Amino acid sequence: MLRFIKAYGRGRSRLLDALLACMLMALLAPTGARAQEDAPRQETAMERRGIHVMMGSRSSLPQVERLITELAPALGLNWIVLEVGGQFAYQSHPEVAEPDSMNADDARRLARLAREKGIRLVPEYQCLGHQSWGEDIGALLRAHPEFEETGETDTSRPRRDHLRSWCPNNPEVYRVVFDLIDELIEAFEADAFHVGMDEVFVLGRCPRCKGTRNAKLYAKAVNDLHGHIVGERGVEMMMWGDRLLPPTFGYNRWESSHNDTWAAVDLIPTDIVICDWHYGVMEDYPSVRYLQSKGFRVWPAGWDEEAAVRQLIEMSRRDNSGRMVGYLATTWVGVETLVPALAGDETASDSRHLPGVVAAVKVAAELAGE
Ligand SMILES: [Zn+2]
Repeated sequence: MLRFIKAYGRGRSRLLDALLACMLMALLAPTGARAQEDAPRQETAMERRGIHVMMGSRSSLPQVERLITELAPALGLNWIVLEVGGQFAYQSHPEVAEPDSMNADDARRLARLAREKGIRLVPEYQCLGHQSWGEDIGALLRAHPEFEETGETDTSRPRRDHLRSWCPNNPEVYRVVFDLIDELIEAFEADAFHVGMDEVFVLGRCPRCKGTRNAKLYAKAVNDLHGHIVGERGVEMMMWGDRLLPPTFGYNRWESSHNDTWAAVDLIPTDIVICDWHYGVMEDYPSVRYLQSKGFRVWPAGWDEEAAVRQLIEMSRRDNSGRMVGYLATTWVGVETLVPALAGDETASDSRHLPGVVAAVKVAAELAGE
């Protein structure tokens, strides 16, 4: 039923939009050229040529600045998603900042540089899942272990499945996290915000959550964040898409949901931009069509394999039904080695992924610019 109501609602809204657009065009007809200038710009395929990078400690700021002022413009990239997370000296909750983090003045400077270069700079705070990686626990759960989704864990599965989550039914989490998000939005003067939310494997285990379907728990987290970011702050929200994809698409259990979260796709607002990441070569990427058919704008994202990036961009262009907005290059290496490597110096790196990442970012920039 919900699916029917949403489909009907969307259909009706498109019809109204079309009627309003016709009326507007008729009203503005005598000043045709002006009307074209004033009309809201429709997002076209490859409008968003983006790169996703991870903020390191404060000492990596010069490399982020170099990315904004030099390398992104040279590559024709116009969006940068900066995963900040705990790497920020939060004033509202200083206990959840990593040591030696950037501060609000640093963020304002980055925002100004980005604006000068015509680049949209989007801060990211990793929400719900991925609160740890291996033995490393992020600053939020180190400071507030009571926020963790705890309970039974299936120890027969690989340890990385135990990426820690916060409890989506604990209201105390949001009393802290909304403050952090507000600080980032203000410091970066952001009009878009990325909430992460990929690879959430630990759900539904604590007494508050047990018995509720994972899709509902996941959707609740998305809706709570949307209520604050879009509802309260009027800022665009974006997130990774893997938990919204059914296991039947042929994707692996990292890039699609094999843990029953995928039905959340029908329980969340469709004005969220979904970053649909896939890193391997596949004949087809059905999720790009699927998420658009659900009403979302889709921002396909690849990683370090040139052939996969070429194929993803080609298939996304083929399958664009008007809501595919570009290509987002993920990097997953430290910004302090990524940026010199993009400029031609790979000697500083200890990552085996770096050469592939650099080649893939360049290929994507070239293809997206066509
Ligand atoms: Zn819980």
